[in-house]
Amino acid sequence: MTDWLAAAESQKQNYLEDLMALMRIKSVRDDSAATDEYPLGPGPSQALAAFLEMAEQDGFRTKNIDNVVGYAEWGEGDETLAILAHLDVMPAGKGWDTDPFEPVIKDGNLYGRGASDDKGPGMAAYYALKYLKDQGVAFNKRVRFIVGTDEESDWTGMHRYFEVEPAPTLGFSPDAEFPVINGEKGQVSLKLSVPATNGEDYVLKSFHSGLRFNMVPREAVAEVVVPDAGQVQAAFEQFVDENPIQGEAEPTADGLKLTVIGKAAHGMEPEQGINAGTYLATFLDQYDFAAGAKSFIHFLAKYLHLDTRMKGFDGAYTDPVMGELTMNAGILNFDAENGGDIDMNFRFPKGIGPDELEATVKKVADPLGIAVKQGPSQKPHYVDPSDPIVKTLMDAYIHQSGDKDAKPEVVGGGTYGRLMERGVAFGALMPQTPNTMHQANEYQPVDDLIRSMAIYMEAINNLVTD
Ligand SMILES: [Zn+2]
Repeated sequence: MTDWLAAAESQKQNYLEDLMALMRIKSVRDDSAATDEYPLGPGPSQALAAFLEMAEQDGFRTKNIDNVVGYAEWGEGDETLAILAHLDVMPAGKGWDTDPFEPVIKDGNLYGRGASDDKGPGMAAYYALKYLKDQGVAFNKRVRFIVGTDEESDWTGMHRYFEVEPAPTLGFSPDAEFPVINGEKGQVSLKLSVPATNGEDYVLKSFHSGLRFNMVPREAVAEVVVPDAGQVQAAFEQFVDENPIQGEAEPTADGLKLTVIGKAAHGMEPEQGINAGTYLATFLDQYDFAAGAKSFIHFLAKYLHLDTRMKGFDGAYTDPVMGELTMNAGILNFDAENGGDIDMNFRFPKGIGPDELEATVKKVADPLGIAVKQGPSQKPHYVDPSDPIVKTLMDAYIHQSGDKDAKPEVVGGGTYGRLMERGVAFGALMPQTPNTMHQANEYQPVDDLIRSMAIYMEAINNLVTD
């Protein structure tokens, strides 16, 4: 039996050199530098070209499709196993201790943009494939290692691939965590609009909370006109004391400016956050606001506050396999001229869909004069745990990690796995390693990367020789 970890260790030096060369390429999408030839700006295409040149020198058949996606291919057969990785990275952002585009190894950890999302894991899977090829393993399938260059935004490259190349039905994406992610919930946003009307004594001049539909709002700020500012300010200070939030009330020329700070979280796990917007609305809901302003405040306070499972709408839903319907109230805005905008983002399991969700929300929104519009949606994706792709990957993970209790997982959505009928996400974040993707000081332990390469070696080997 092959010692895959020893095999991966034998690749370590070359792997790290090739990986670091790719990490030095600032492959951030830049629309301001987009051209017909480089529709995502030069960075992502540069990383793609560098990768394809490397793969060609390694002896793979390669193809560059319109500078937005490409692949390295090995093996023959009727069936194609696809491995979907990406070479684009998030913008660096602030707060780094080292240069985000000059990778360094400190205390056994590789630091730099892309170390864990997704250049590190992608190259570990590539090196696993290359090792099997170089060892002369007889492949009974074609394997295509496909690299996208726009995973962090619109999936431009990977969508192009599926337009112009035959769709592989089987595969995995090394762009998430271990063990196997065999299910992703569907996703849809409902966009609500509230009339720009107010009463006379209590006026909601503006209310702003939330930057993105897929984040729990950390901050909320409202400007109000009230007849009794001193009393409202005192009540607000008490409300802040009694709740898990911070806040401040400042007098303005004609009223108060109220700020609430809660806690941000990813929109696929909204219960992990503290929604500043619904807290602020809950405070305001005790006063006599009127018309559109009242509808906006009351809807947030009564139906969205402390409820990410739609219980207040009588709309909670759980699928025995894919889990609960979840809802994130990510954008909560109102101003006196334009009225209110609310974005409710849903992650839904199979058995329920956008039309049912729209009907459920309308039942509550209609009487309040709030209009509901459905945004674009994605269907739930699920590969049965008994499918050989799930079983083979799980076996390889369990064998290399020793974690006998590991089970495949369903998440809120968002990986390339959903592009294939029998597609899953697989690695490379280990369960005990902190997730630093998209953050400052992104890193991945080098030992994790080498172990993930061993897992990919065993998994690909078993998939192409079964
Ligand atoms: Zn990624």
